[in-house]
Amino acid sequence: MAGDENVRVSEKLDFNTFEFEFENLHYAEGRGRTYVIFDVKPQSEGGRGKRLWGYVRNNPLDDHAEVILMSKINDHLETHQGNYTMTWYMSWSPCGNCSSELVPWLKNLEEQQHTLTMHFSRIYDKDRAVDHRGLCDLQRVVSNYFQMGVMRKKEVKKCLAEYVEASGRTLRWLRTTTSNAGRRRRKLYSILVRCAGMRESGMPLHLFT
Ligand SMILES: [Zn+2]
Repeated sequence: MAGDENVRVSEKLDFNTFEFEFENLHYAEGRGRTYVIFDVKPQSEGGRGKRLWGYVRNNPLDDHAEVILMSKINDHLETHQGNYTMTWYMSWSPCGNCSSELVPWLKNLEEQQHTLTMHFSRIYDKDRAVDHRGLCDLQRVVSNYFQMGVMRKKEVKKCLAEYVEASGRTLRWLRTTTSNAGRRRRKLYSILVRCAGMRESGMPLHLFT
């Protein structure tokens, strides 16, 4: 499968990479890659479902991380049928192109009664209008099955506890996580309030927490 070399299954992300790539700054210089830590868990034990977890990064010259991950999850769902609860922890929010691929994929997940929660550290808007439109399109498919929002300290700590080779180390930016996450949430809110349909689909996850 294309991009497989950028997927690490059942492997924790190393601490230094997490500390650099997930820092929730507005201007994050040098963070040209996107990392997504993922956990795809069967909703019930004892079924045919099998957990899939690890992390994926984009291939700078080719596929974005989200596209690689969708393909990986599709393969998994085909071979290990069941209903899954999925969580993604992303260094950047999806770009416009990825959002346009995610929307139909998410609708399909919903039809199959899988859930996905997406937490992102920073808001990606290199191509402002297109990327903002993408976030609005994602917001329109928010439901009981799909939620998205900015990573808070709680999610950062969850990553350190479960998905990062942290060995008791302390993030240099842990103390500023909450205030920075508040700024990222306000930015997300300002993008989404301009979208039609936000009221119907509800507020983004963790907007006010
Ligand atoms: Zn993308």
